[in-house]
Order: sequence, then structure tokens, then C-alpha cells
Amino acid sequence: MGLPGRPPMEWEPPSPSEGGFRVPTRVTSEMKKGRRNYQHAKFTRLRRHLEISQDDERPRRVRTRAARYAAALAEQLGLLIRPKCCAWCRRRQRLERHHWDYDEPLNITFLCADCHAIADPMVWKAGIA
Ligand SMILES: [Zn+2]
Repeated sequence: MGLPGRPPMEWEPPSPSEGGFRVPTRVTSEMKKGRRNYQHAKFTRLRRHLEISQDDERPRRVRTRAARYAAALAEQLGLLIRPKCCAWCRRRQRLERHHWDYDEPLNITFLCADCHAIADPMVWKAGIA
């Protein structure tokens, strides 16, 4: 219920006739905007790390680290969904992100630590990670 003609930035102490403090709607919309910017910043970081992970000029360890970070960001953004249980043995354990190929940073499988220990040597043997 804004009063017309009043500068938006002006603040007055709440008067008892107005029922004390009113939470200005402006604040909540600003908060939402901050949240959107935060999401956007994550997307920007995701894109940058995806680029780094694909960059042949960079050392391997930098690319793998970027790929892992990109996957973590993608999960935070809801692009990758963490299942309730291990993709292989279906146990409800703490899950880890397994990369099959760091050239595909978002191609991951959620595995428990035991299955991850089986999966990693398979990738190494294939000579791609
Ligand atoms: Zn498992």
C-alpha cells in the first residue's frame, strides 16, 4: 500500500496507526534478484570450467580439476541429479561422482566409495583418464 508521490528511498519510522513495522516489498524483490545473480554467477563459473576442461593447451591436472569442479557446480545447479543410492550396487551410501572421461565433464555416475574403487581402474585401463 504505497502512498503516491512519496520518494521510494525515503524512510520514516513506522507509525502506530499503520500497525507498526511493515516489511517493504522492495527488499524481498531485491533478495530474489540477488539469488538470481548468484545462480547466474554459478553458471558463468560452470561455463568457464567446462572450457578449461576442454582446453588442450592446459596441463592434464588442471583440466581434470576443472572437470570435477564443473560437475560439482552442475550438481549444485540441478543439472545433475544425485540419486539416493549407488548406481551400481544400489546401497545407500555416501556417493561420489565418477568421471568416465574428463573430456566429458558432465558425464558422470554416482557411485559409492567401494564401487568407485572398482570403476576408476577400469577407466585407467582404458587409458582415457
Ligand atoms: Zn556401490
